[in-house]
Amino acid sequence: MQWNIPRPFTSTSRATGLSGIALALGLICGCSGSNDAGVPNGSSEGTGIAGSASEGGVGDHSDSVGKLNIVTTIAMVTDIVRVVAADRANVDGLIGEGIDPHLFTAGRNDVQKLLAADVVFYCGLMLEGRMADDFARVGRKGKPVFPVTEGIDREKLREPPEFEGHWDPHVWMDVALWSECVDSVAKELSIQDESSAADFRTRADDYRKQLSELDTYIREAVSTIPQEQRYLITAHDAFGYFASAYGIEVKAIQGISTDSQAAISDINSLVDFIVENKVPAIFVESSVSKKNIEAVIEGCGQRGWELRIGAELFSDAMGPPGTYEGTYIGMMDHNSTKITRALGGEAPEHGWQGKLAVSVKH
Ligand code: ZN
Repeated sequence: MQWNIPRPFTSTSRATGLSGIALALGLICGCSGSNDAGVPNGSSEGTGIAGSASEGGVGDHSDSVGKLNIVTTIAMVTDIVRVVAADRANVDGLIGEGIDPHLFTAGRNDVQKLLAADVVFYCGLMLEGRMADDFARVGRKGKPVFPVTEGIDREKLREPPEFEGHWDPHVWMDVALWSECVDSVAKELSIQDESSAADFRTRADDYRKQLSELDTYIREAVSTIPQEQRYLITAHDAFGYFASAYGIEVKAIQGISTDSQAAISDINSLVDFIVENKVPAIFVESSVSKKNIEAVIEGCGQRGWELRIGAELFSDAMGPPGTYEGTYIGMMDHNSTKITRALGGEAPEHGWQGKLAVSVKH
């Protein structure tokens, strides 16, 4: 599966036999088809907290100490829930580092966790299209299964043609918009645990404040990129919200077909664009094949334009757990700082909070 270059939405199938649950469960598969390492249902053990012993230590079920047992999907959602719920919940994120949520299928272990949870939070907008049946199943058991993007005004969502009539689910790329989900999570948690509602509210407000500062940082950083170089060329279509929120134009190297003839002509036209606009750098992502990007770099070289690889960006998954880049804030700091510096703008080498681990090529 190395060469399965993403076709935006291989409308392969609509999720099978689904009822219930308020999602239109089409199967969106991905903007990034290349989960080379391939395993759909990654190691769900990765972030597991739920089952681990905590100091409460009653028997072997730490979640029986009055905490909510929460299961989430992508790490960006997990982050919100962990921050807002803090010590009131055990939170277990199913989709770990480097795993493509569009292609993720819940394994048996994951399904068991979902069924055992008090609440399930996921992104929604069909990001986790292959989990639709599982969400429906949990919902039928009367458990709350909650898409965090549900409260966002639909007017604010993107519906670009390449998503074939669906919303673009990559909302986290616009920090201000994503922060609206924080309130939805706080509200839902308060329904589940009324006595902690005030704490949830306070933590949600604090987190939103940080996100708002991060949003300002990104806006200011991107605005320092010379206007004529404000092009983000990348292999994944995750950056649409980033583009519209922060004023940079995205050109995605995707939709390039696996057919070699078509690929060559797509790559050539991209090379033309880059050379004409003197775009200095191109970006790769943690979960996408680098093959086409290399072809573009080579094409530019033949035309006498030295195109650099700007940085590896995080699109649908964050960095390793326990690192700064393994938090939502760190991920967005990383992306915006690297984009800004590679395209000739000004941003601190170690990012907004001075915490970025790897220095940025400039
Ligand atoms: Zn995606």
